[in-house]
This record gives sequence, structure tokens and C-alpha cells, in this order.
Amino acid sequence: MPEGPVAQVGIVLVAHVAALAEGVRTLAAQMAPEVDIRAVGGTGDGGVGTSFDAILDAIQEAVTAAGEGSQDSSGDSGVVVLYDLGSAQLTAELVLETLDPDHTARVLLVDAPLVEGAVAAATTAAGGAGLAEVAAAAREAYTPAAEAGAAETSEPAENRAEGAVRARTTLRNSAGLHARPAAALARLVREYDARVTVGRPGEPGADATGVLAVVARGLRVGAEIEVVAAGADARAALDAVIALADEGFGELDETAPVPVEQPDQPAPAGSPEPPEPGTLRGIGASTGLVVATVRHLRRTEPRLPSTGGAHDPAAERRRLAAAVDRVNTELAGRAAGGGSGADIAGAHQAMLADPALLAGAEAKLDAATPAEVAWWRSVLEARDLLAGGADPVAERAVDVEDLGRAVLGALGVDVRPSVRPEDVAHAVVVAEEVFPSDVAALGEAEVAGVAVARGGRTSHAAILARGLDLPMVVRLGPDVLDVADGTPVILDARNGELRVDPPEPELASARQSARDLAAERERARTEAAGTVVRADGTPVTVSANVGGPAEARAAVAAGADAVGLLRTELLYVDRPRLPGEDEQAAELGAVLAELGGRRAVVRTLDVGGDKLLPALDLDPWRHGPLGERGLRYAFAHPDLLRTQLRAVLRAAYGHGEVWLMAPMVTTAAEARRFRLLVEEAAGELAAEGTAFARPAMVGVMVEVPAAALVADRICAEVDFVSVGSNDLTQYVMAADRTNDAVGDLYQPGHEAMWRLLGTLVEASRAAGRHVAVCGELAGEPDAAVRLVGMGVDELSMTPNAIPGVKAALRSRLS
Ligand code: PEP
Ligand code: MG
Repeated sequence: MPEGPVAQVGIVLVAHVAALAEGVRTLAAQMAPEVDIRAVGGTGDGGVGTSFDAILDAIQEAVTAAGEGSQDSSGDSGVVVLYDLGSAQLTAELVLETLDPDHTARVLLVDAPLVEGAVAAATTAAGGAGLAEVAAAAREAYTPAAEAGAAETSEPAENRAEGAVRARTTLRNSAGLHARPAAALARLVREYDARVTVGRPGEPGADATGVLAVVARGLRVGAEIEVVAAGADARAALDAVIALADEGFGELDETAPVPVEQPDQPAPAGSPEPPEPGTLRGIGASTGLVVATVRHLRRTEPRLPSTGGAHDPAAERRRLAAAVDRVNTELAGRAAGGGSGADIAGAHQAMLADPALLAGAEAKLDAATPAEVAWWRSVLEARDLLAGGADPVAERAVDVEDLGRAVLGALGVDVRPSVRPEDVAHAVVVAEEVFPSDVAALGEAEVAGVAVARGGRTSHAAILARGLDLPMVVRLGPDVLDVADGTPVILDARNGELRVDPPEPELASARQSARDLAAERERARTEAAGTVVRADGTPVTVSANVGGPAEARAAVAAGADAVGLLRTELLYVDRPRLPGEDEQAAELGAVLAELGGRRAVVRTLDVGGDKLLPALDLDPWRHGPLGERGLRYAFAHPDLLRTQLRAVLRAAYGHGEVWLMAPMVTTAAEARRFRLLVEEAAGELAAEGTAFARPAMVGVMVEVPAAALVADRICAEVDFVSVGSNDLTQYVMAADRTNDAVGDLYQPGHEAMWRLLGTLVEASRAAGRHVAVCGELAGEPDAAVRLVGMGVDELSMTPNAIPGVKAALRSRLS
């Protein structure tokens, strides 16, 4: 058990079917992996029922584990037992009677709904709550729909109470608090013993663990949000949420950034003139040009079992829980797969775990209402709640319906769309709305393109289509639904148009343009993969800035020659504590493994300044932009740096070349000390006989003007330097990079920057050192050409800037 909670409370789940107990355990464990949760279900021979012996064993083991793992002397540790049916309760009671009295006093049998109770108990126990508090959380877990709704739409009373803490910040990530960030928020908040709400200042906030309620607030980029926290961990939770928001919920560097849609403005179609007759105009959501015939994707309403009759609500609740669990398991599999599909599956998992959805369905279960009907009604309520909002909130309505159908499918309802994949190959598929789950199937069926009446550019379906290079135009309006099957069309997703039944010469010319476009894209892809070479034959390394495995994959796909900046802190950003050496080594190894042997520059932890990690107790002043941040923080916490250096060297073993680099270096003495610590870590690992690889080069970032001005001295200590132009700009211009009030002074391309860069590059080259630039400046084609002209050896940038920068260098380098 990890350190942290003062009391330790374990959970035993007793059910009549082993799979049910195990399923609930899986669900609860996902939200509170550190809590000891044991599942015991079925009879000893695998039948339906309960086993006295198995329950006794599970409870005894859990009580012992709780006693051993606890740092609590108050006796508040113990075990909460939850069960599915009354007869399980009877067996569990019998078990308690046979325990020795010491143990009996530490076990509470709690009458609570199994699924919600387990989730509530687990998340409460994870926060370090005592036995009575965990039991109470389980008991109170069941909230009828009306109350659940109320809980989401008004600030909890305790947050208005004395002791509640609040803070405001501005949303920075382009899509605002949509489903994926809301899921990250819910996961983070569950780590704390605190009630947290998020909303606009002055309005009641949404419970931060309710993904749908948060999404429904429609909080977009630029919106000021107020976060209120109450409870034992209020301050820590508040700081963690603010830090997560300020990091853009991990979405600031998305490989395929989604432009912010302005629904109040006209659709950004190709030309402002009204479309020609026979042309429907929408928004290009995934680019491309396609000539094909139309096939409709017609979706029928799910055929639900009739209401009435005699249903057992408890049995229906279990069926529903099992179906939700099955869908959750499928999503978990996809979430582990990487790429945009993985992120979306993760967001869907979080929506599915939203208590409002399941509680809403369970409140509708009665003798006349089976699970399918109750679930579907709850889904439609949630869908309509979201659909009533502005984009991109309304776009999430489709996700809820998609998820709802998946659970219906798991309950045995036929939810397949009317068109089979084999019918749509090479066609332009027309649909009123496209679900995320349709997109993968349509891609596999090799459809030529997709034309959607509604939808949006920031919808998950559109994101997935872009990932698959599947041309898609959305918002074509209801007229597109009148285009008959078999009609020839030109789908031009470059400017968001659909030409319906054009004359043959126009079709022929569009076919030719489509062939030319395909050839051009192929050429750009091949060229991006090649190295850029100067006229004198020396190569320019165009590399990528990455923060995790998905970005590393995107970097390779975009044609990165190497990774010029691996921001290690992004691996830890949503964690309540820093991972240990083994975990860090494994996670870094996973990133390096994506690079196919390409070299990677790993930057040691860069915290402080604009990066306030929840795992560390960082003070905005002490660790602020001019404070103890970057390498300064690492020197002040030698164990932390040592652990990380050891993890990086271990991760490097068996992969391509790894270079190590320190952030926020000011003096040559700091550079020397860093290098010595790297040597020390390597020496330790060698002495222990642990497998590791020595970094091929050790370098520092130049982000502080002083370092640029004494680059000759710094270069005497290291093998390479890499300019962090983002921070260098803020220090040269004395304009905080996060402060909009001085945003006009934050100019990476200011002449002052170019003069300083000139000094730095000249000194580095005179010392024979490799010099790179890895801030945003490197990803701007004009600046990239100028930097290489000055003698910079390497430019490192966000992956999707690579093809453009390579093309600019090729055409403009003399
Ligand atoms: C920089 O400062 O330019 C840089 C690349 O580092 P970060 O943006 O992570 O601070
Ligand atoms: Mg920096």
C-alpha cells in the first residue's frame, strides 16, 4: 500500500455471482486503485449463491491487511462489507458472528447499493477517511435522479460553509472544459477528500466529479472559472485543480489542435458568396476531395422491451451494472491503445462513470420498468441536457447517445445502424449525425467520405475522422438528407461543400483534382520523412517536442528526425504524487519505444514558473518564474533529481540514443554540477549492476538571458545547448508568459531576442557545440529559416509543425 492515508479501510464486495462481484471491484478499483478491494461471489463450486468460507476468508484477509497497512493509531481503520441481496447479508452476518471480537469491531456490514456504494466507499477510502466515514459514504451513495440533478446544478452546502476555499483561473486549452478535460478533472478530484465545484464566478458550480454536469456548463477557452473546494483536503484539491487547468488539462500541445469554433459566426466556408444551385455548404471537419455516390446511414430508434409486467428492480439493477461494466471494459481496452481514439475512449469511460447517468437510470427502475427502458430514458435526459447547450457542449450529446446505445447493445438490444459496412465501401455516407463509434467502422469499411447534416468540427467523430484521414463535411443542414442513394456527388472537405449531381465534365475534372491532391499529399508525407540538407551538404535536424507516447507516435508520423525535447513533467501532471524510479523508468521507456531508434533529448523535471505540479507543494512566489524553478528546484530536492536521473538512464537502455538536458540554467557552475550528478547516477547504476545506458550527450537549456550571455563558459561544461525561446522571451522582455496583461510585450520574434540569439549561436559554434532551439519560435517557418541561417543545428517543435517547417527550409535555404 502506498503511503498517504492516515486510516486504512478495505472493502469486501459480496455478490451471488462471482462475475458481478469482480465487475464491481474492477469499476471501483479503477477510481481508487490504491484501496484494498476484494470481490467474493458465488458458491464454492462456482454456482449462483454465497459461500460462508469464501466470505470469511476475504473479510479476515482484508481486516489483517487494513491493520498492517494503516498508520493510524485511533482504531479508525477496518473493513466495509457491501452485498448485493438480502441472503448475502445473512451469510455475511453469520461470518461476523464467528470473527474474533477484535476483528468484529473493525468490520462494518453496510446496507448500500452495491455499485454506487462500492464506488463511493472506494473513493472515500482513497482519501484516507476512517471506517465510519467510508461506511457513511457507501450508505449515502444512492441519490435518486432528482437529487442527483440538484447536486450537479447547485453548489454543495458544505462549499458555502466556512472553511471552503476558492480560486479563479482562465481556461487555456482550445476546446475548454469539454469531455476529455472534464474526465481528467473528475479523476483528479477523486484523489482528494474534498468536494469540489467548478463553474463561472458568481454562478453555482457543477460537482467536479460529474463529467456530464461539468461539460454541460459549456466553459470554453478564455472563460474565467471559479473552483470551490471544501473538506479535509480542500486546499490541496484546489491547488491541484488550478494547476491542471493552468496546464490546459494536458491539451495545450495537442498534436492536431482543434480551432475554436465560433458558433455565433457564419460557418467558415470557402467563399462568402451564396453557394451555386446544387451545392450544399457546411464546414470541412476533415480535409480531402472525393467523387463518389451517396449511401445513407439511417439509424433506427432502439427497440426496447415493453414496460409493464413484473420486473425485479434489484435484478434489473444488476443486469444494468453488468452491461455498463462490459462497455467500460471495452472502452478501457481502447483507451490503452494510444492516439486520439484512446483519448476519446478515456473520455467516454469517464462519462459512463458519471454517477448522474447510472443513478438516473436506477431511480427509474421499478416493477414495470426493465433496465433497458430505465437506462435509455436516463441517457436521453442527459443527451437533451447537453444538446440544449451551445457548441461544443451540444456535440457531446452525440457521445452520450453513442455510449447509451453501446450499453443497450450489452443488454441485448439490437442497436446496429441500418447500413452494413459492405454497402458503404467507396461511397459518400450521408447521415443526420455520426457517432464516434461509427467512424472507426466507416473507416474500416473504406468509405470515401462522410457528409453530415449536423455535427461540428470539434466533435469526437470529427477528431477521429481527422485521425483516419477520412474526408468529412459537417453542418450541411437537413437538405443533405434528401439526396437520394446512388446520386453522384463531389465532397470537397477543403472548403466544406457538397456538389450534388453535377454534370459529367465537372465530375471528371474533380476526379482529376482528387488524384492530384492525393499525389501531392503523398509527396509531402514522403518529403517530411526525409532529412533537410543545406546547400553545403550539412543536415538540419528537425525534431519534435513530446510529452508522452501518443505524441511520440505523432512525431514519427509527422516526419520527426528525432525528439529534441521530451518534457518529462507532462508524465506526472495529473498525479497526486510523483511516481517512483521504477514507474518513471517504465513510462519513459514507453515513450522512447515509440521512436523507432530515433534519438531523444530528455529534459529533467521542469517545475515551478508556469508549471505547478499537483504532486509537489509549490508556492507561486517561492517557485514562481523568478524563483526556485527548473534545475534550481531539482538542486534543492536532490533525491528527486537523483531518482529521475537513474530512471532516465535505466529507460535509455535498449533504445536509441538519449541525451540529457537540464531546464532553467543560469550559470556555468550549475551546468557543471548537473553534469557531475548525471555521472554520479551512472556510477551508482554501474556499481549496482543495473542495466542502463549512459547519455550520449549532456546539455542545458538556455532560457535565462545570463546563460545566453555567458554561453562560452556554459559550453565549456556541456556537449550541447538548446534554446527554450518560450522562457527566454519572458525573461528578455520581462513579460510573464502567462500574464495576458503584458501579452503584447511577450514577443519571441523581437529584435532583442534575435540579437541575444546571435550572441549565443556564435559562442556555441565557436566552442564547437551542437546548438538547438526547442521553444515555439522553432516551429514558425520564417523564424526556422532565419535560425538555420544563423547556424542553428536543430529545431524542435510541436509534431504537426514539422512538415511545414521542413518544406520551408527545403525551399528557402541557400
Ligand atoms: C521553453 O521555455 O522554450 C521550453 C521549450 O520549455 P517550456 O515551454 O516547457 O518551458
Ligand atoms: Mg522553458
